[in-house]
Amino acid sequence: MTAGGYFGRALVVDATDGTSRVVELDDRTLREHLGGAGLGVRLITDLAPGGVDPLGPDAPLAFVFSPLVGTPLTTSAKFAVVAKSPLTGMLTDALASSHFAIAGKLTGHDAIVVVGRAARPSVLLVDGADVRLEPADDEVGRSAAVTEVSVRERFGRAFKVAAIGPAGERGVLYATLSHDGRHAGRGGLGAVLGAKNVKAVAVRPRTKVAPADPAGVLAAAKDLRTRSFGAATAKYRELGTLANLLAFNALSTLPTRNFQAATFDGAPALAAEELAELRGTARNSCASCTIGCEHIYQLSPRRGGRTMRVEYENVFALGPMCGVSDPDDVLEASARCDDLGIDTISAGGTIAWAMECAEKGLLDAPWLRFGDGAALLRALDEIGTGTGLGPLLALGSRRAAAEVGQGSADFAPHVKGLELPGYEPRSLHAMALGLAVNARGADHNRSGAYEADLGGDLDRLDGGAAHVAAAVETEDRAAAMDSLILCKFLRGVFTDPWAEWAHLLSLVTGWDVDAAELHETARRIVLSKRAYNIREGWRPEDDWLPARLLQETLEMGSGRTAALTPERLRAMVDGYWAARGLDESGFPRTTVDMPAYDG
Ligand code: SF4
Repeated sequence: MTAGGYFGRALVVDATDGTSRVVELDDRTLREHLGGAGLGVRLITDLAPGGVDPLGPDAPLAFVFSPLVGTPLTTSAKFAVVAKSPLTGMLTDALASSHFAIAGKLTGHDAIVVVGRAARPSVLLVDGADVRLEPADDEVGRSAAVTEVSVRERFGRAFKVAAIGPAGERGVLYATLSHDGRHAGRGGLGAVLGAKNVKAVAVRPRTKVAPADPAGVLAAAKDLRTRSFGAATAKYRELGTLANLLAFNALSTLPTRNFQAATFDGAPALAAEELAELRGTARNSCASCTIGCEHIYQLSPRRGGRTMRVEYENVFALGPMCGVSDPDDVLEASARCDDLGIDTISAGGTIAWAMECAEKGLLDAPWLRFGDGAALLRALDEIGTGTGLGPLLALGSRRAAAEVGQGSADFAPHVKGLELPGYEPRSLHAMALGLAVNARGADHNRSGAYEADLGGDLDRLDGGAAHVAAAVETEDRAAAMDSLILCKFLRGVFTDPWAEWAHLLSLVTGWDVDAAELHETARRIVLSKRAYNIREGWRPEDDWLPARLLQETLEMGSGRTAALTPERLRAMVDGYWAARGLDESGFPRTTVDMPAYDG
């Protein structure tokens, strides 16, 4: 019998001819991989051979739900999109929340996997057990938001839709996949779906799934809801993640002008406090969420007055990272990324790298300068249209630097090909390690090690064994939350997270899971991601940071100097590999201690 909260099956659809099949997921597989990111890495490992071309028809793209989706537990309406990234050549697993998660699961599947390539632009409809492809020629060139509306008008409003924008159709390597104004943003998942000639996936709920202990889940949901209104989530409710901007600036950890500085004079103009006063219009939340961290801001009337959701990461990447301080330029750039369907962090990082190249005379683009908002918007337009510098910038900073050469790789801001988020590694040493070793590259959502840096118990400028332990633990916690799935902004409300999460999982599934088992499951998921990457060609030197961060020091506002030497990073990476039970080169010692690893 399938555990509560699960259907015990994944749907695999071949976009080439519209056929589909069901893959049974037994109880052991579900218990060992949970759902979301954990189940996703298992599915893409099993459903394609090593070395698959991420933009080829054989590459699977998995929408993966979780046991908690559809329960009244706050922030549980999430799903993972998992695939081999065309940007990194390794695993990418993006989390997103919306009604798509609930509707997708209630088609009767724990995951929907797309393979193949349709002969013409198509919409994939999963209507319960009924699966079909419909032509979508009229949707070509449209934004994901416009396509979402149009697909629901055409097929029925009960359908929930995830779609790609023009960048996904065009194969921009950091194209996103969007739904309900939210994005599965990192690693180029939009390009993977675009390569399958699938413009949108529409799902309609046709069944129900019950938890093992409905009364217990309801009581837990009420308790969690109450706690979600407390101090641990106040920051997200009041100002949202953009509250980080001024705080990070004060701590000299706000990457500026492509990591040439860690403080930005223009930060006050972009701060949440300032924007909320002058541009704030509303607050919103994902489906099934009692926190509501979305803050909606508005362009000034002279720029059209459009509203948009704003987060710390898009403001960092399109603001300080590019040296741009005009709020209208940054907000408009963010809206343009949404319309094109591109990841703001990779777009901002790649453009910032290009700005530095242009200023150094390595690129013939005299118009492209740090601090120039019009240049930022032009660069985004060229990425969207494939003109001018667009084809180069569409590759992301790692590949673009390989084409430009002349030492530009030293300041290309990426790990494993994924552009760095807004956390300065030189002044956050635990986070530096978390970014270096993470399976999907430089990503703040898969490693929360910055919490240890900023918590006050560690010296964030003096990385060592305690920083390694923090990076391991926060990576494990992220793997658990991304697989259960719960929103990370809820993490502060749990006082004994492993035990509390195990209890929630037990209530939903009926399994008798304790804290130790759940922690072991999380470790297995982290290692499964590494195993996938090893199969796809990971090398020890991929667990590393860009040369600039190890060669140049930073003068901090406090008067201290922040530095991260190669020797210090080497010691922390070695410590991390040892803590994970890996050998001195980061490989598994035996095939049995590495799930899904076949040598
Ligand atoms: S806290 Fe924010 S990101 Fe998390 S589920 Fe709620 S609205 Fe969505």
